[in-house]
Amino acid sequence: MAWARKVTLMTETDYESMLERARKNLPDTAQSSEDRWSLPEPDIMYEGKMTVVKNFGDIVESVRRDSEQILGHILRELGTAGSQDGRRLILKSVITKDKLQSKFVDYVDTFVICGECGKPDTHLIKEGRIQVVECMACGAKRPVKVKKGLKAQEKRNAFSPGDELEVLIQDVGKLGDGVAKIDKYVIFVPGVTKGTRVKIRIEKVSGTTVMGRPVQ
Ligand SMILES: [Zn+2]
Repeated sequence: MAWARKVTLMTETDYESMLERARKNLPDTAQSSEDRWSLPEPDIMYEGKMTVVKNFGDIVESVRRDSEQILGHILRELGTAGSQDGRRLILKSVITKDKLQSKFVDYVDTFVICGECGKPDTHLIKEGRIQVVECMACGAKRPVKVKKGLKAQEKRNAFSPGDELEVLIQDVGKLGDGVAKIDKYVIFVPGVTKGTRVKIRIEKVSGTTVMGRPVQ
């Protein structure tokens, strides 16, 4: 299947000017270089069967890696198709925020964070046939160790018990439970009214039938 792949690559200069601007924007109290770096949380929404990551561009900039490499890793790990659309990432299946975030964190742990000082100021180099993360802050090097992919079972189900997500209650079931539909999944949520958006925690998944409970 062919799908359009629009990728914006940041040049070194773009990155430097962005950093400079960010530095100037910082309040004085936050100017410490010791501030713990953290990955932006994915900001997602669902459009039909698709998951849209609205701030993919921010995540790419924060990680300072080739967006194509991040995209490739994420798609492989999630077992789904997808493409970059400007600063958004469009995934062609329903993926919860938790699952997506764990894949980004995984990417950063594998390809970005320095094993010695924990900073993200690293780049990838090749030593022979081995990919190595070299830290520009402390000079440490470590080989890239790619973890094994997801189990087939995990790839097949969009939802797992414990996942939290926001859904729109589109209907009311025969027993009075709210019903939300995402892709082929029907999600039952007791104690909610039609037309509301609620944050729920998944309790049980049976085929395409999902039971959830509202969380505060
Ligand atoms: Zn380091």
